Amino acid sequence: MAEVILKNVKKVYDNKNVAVNDFNLEIKDKEFVVFVGPSGCGKSTTLRMIAGLEEITSGTISIDGKVVNEVLPKDRNIAMVFQNYALYPHMSVFENMAFGLKLRKFPKKEIESSVKSAAEILGIGDLLNRRPGALSGGQRQRVAVGRAIVRKPSVFLFDEPLSNLDAKLRTQMRTEIKRLHSSLNATMIYVTHDQTEAMTMGDRIVVMKDGFIQQVAEPLELYNKPANKFTAGFIGMPQMNFFYGSIINSGGDRFFKSDDGISLKLGNDLTFLSGSGYENIIMGIRPEEIGSLTAKSNSTNPVIKGRIDVIEPLGSEIYIYLTCGKHEIISRIESGGTSYSVGETVELPVNIGKAHFFDAKTENRL
Ligand code: ADP
Repeated sequence: MAEVILKNVKKVYDNKNVAVNDFNLEIKDKEFVVFVGPSGCGKSTTLRMIAGLEEITSGTISIDGKVVNEVLPKDRNIAMVFQNYALYPHMSVFENMAFGLKLRKFPKKEIESSVKSAAEILGIGDLLNRRPGALSGGQRQRVAVGRAIVRKPSVFLFDEPLSNLDAKLRTQMRTEIKRLHSSLNATMIYVTHDQTEAMTMGDRIVVMKDGFIQQVAEPLELYNKPANKFTAGFIGMPQMNFFYGSIINSGGDRFFKSDDGISLKLGNDLTFLSGSGYENIIMGIRPEEIGSLTAKSNSTNPVIKGRIDVIEPLGSEIYIYLTCGKHEIISRIESGGTSYSVGETVELPVNIGKAHFFDAKTENRL
């Protein structure tokens, strides 16, 4: 059982910089948890505290039911994979992968078979005699992962391991690490600033900002029910569109009216916005809920009128950038439907039932 539990964990660096604040999380055995957030939000610091590479200012971290605050990194039964690979340049791939086991005085035969089997799993069996300098970025990253695997740790920690790879390799390694997770049956904690990586890899995702957890949820729950404006804007590509305004009643109907005059009639399913008290709110609409086939399918959906500034054809879909009053709105539609041109003024239906609403002051979900 390799559960990892963080309780009220806080990290204050010497310069009084509070990097992580009141971090509470229970990571289940064999779970794949991703920490995601913008640079500087405290992801790496949290991971390094779990690894034992950074002291914990207050709170406790337990691995396998045992508090490890005072346990040395080498005794925590964890293995960490770093962004810069951290390979020894003067050692061969074999020696790099075998290094940790040699230090622990494993028998030579066992080291050999562990390294060979890990190399096989990662498809680097024929590179064992090479030095890291003679490997591509992707191959080096595999060696770094291999070095972690041979130790058979109960918890794998990954710190932005794919950031130095090109886009294609990154996607490939993403799948490989997920596959490894299923076959190794280990707990994995993975740090990234890339929301796509988080969404595609995590069983659960921890969204962080300024040292605080914003939300912990499974990928689709995060996407469909972001707890606040930050998570709503951080998860999803292109970013959610936001409008500040209020709900008003007029002629028996309810409308969202933005501060700069955009008015959208609310559907019947947004009944939680009935009554008063919604004068100062934020409405969020994902790009795919504007102008797409699903948005068009409901004839009662309101429309947003705007002028097209930019069109980005991406193959299966198209991003359309509209100016509407003071707003720059992004719509994401399927290819092959209505064709639009730059400069055109269009009316795009909004799937209003899929809109998200936040309090403008607290930015929390309504
Ligand atoms: P992330 O991994 O999310 O980019 P970090 O955990 O590296 O963020 O950093 C969190 C905060 O702690 C940042 O403000 C960063 O500047 C600060 N920080 C990180 N390492 C140190 C350090 N060794 N000394 C002082 N401040 C640090």
